[in-house]
Amino acid sequence: MDKYLMIVNNQKRFFRDMVDGFTVRETAAVAPEGVRDDWPIYLETETAKALEKLNARLAGKNIKITVSSGLRTIKQQKDVCEQILVKKREQFMKAGATRADASIMAKEYVEKYVARPGFSEHHTGLALDYVPERIKDNLLTRLERKFGSESTAGKKLHALDRRVMSVVVQKEMTDCGFILRYTDENENETGVPAEYWHLRYVGPENARKIKQSKQSLEAYVRGLGEDLTQASEEEMTKGYSMRR
Ligand SMILES: [Zn+2]
Repeated sequence: MDKYLMIVNNQKRFFRDMVDGFTVRETAAVAPEGVRDDWPIYLETETAKALEKLNARLAGKNIKITVSSGLRTIKQQKDVCEQILVKKREQFMKAGATRADASIMAKEYVEKYVARPGFSEHHTGLALDYVPERIKDNLLTRLERKFGSESTAGKKLHALDRRVMSVVVQKEMTDCGFILRYTDENENETGVPAEYWHLRYVGPENARKIKQSKQSLEAYVRGLGEDLTQASEEEMTKGYSMRR
């Protein structure tokens, strides 16, 4: 089985031996405003190279993508869950919820949107979250500046530009070996709401086939004859360790 097709999802746990033979590489990343500060960021080496290739292509389109999250250890995923829990609880309390209610809502939010430690694709080093930026100003960024980034119009323009950029990223990423892992179309299959910032490296050939077939990674891998049955509880805990 092609290692670049390994599946880690909310039912299939990550095991350290899944990445035997992989090396990792530090990836240039600048912490965009408001993004967690857990640098440096690492990616599996082929994935890091593919990202450089993607960025070279995007440069011709006046776009640069910055990685906001790459390889995460189990410990880092625990921290991510904790940070989001705290942030969401504060938000719900600010919106008027009691502390007890806010805690429950925050917990529900994390369960729905954040992978449990051990079950995140980010453990593999093959997944990354990105933030798109303009290399040079264009009409949208100039208008955004004119209205002010904090104004309603400025925020709308910013969101529009991000949508425009993500369409370009999606067009260029396939030949570099990336797929969009979670989309509206495959949510019922993956169980994860669409994440247009989460890319997964599978290699150019697989990426092209997956894009053409419009399948989820799970469906594609199953189509190759792989058994994706959930591991037993015993298997899930046996030999489970992550040294990184
Ligand atoms: Zn992600």
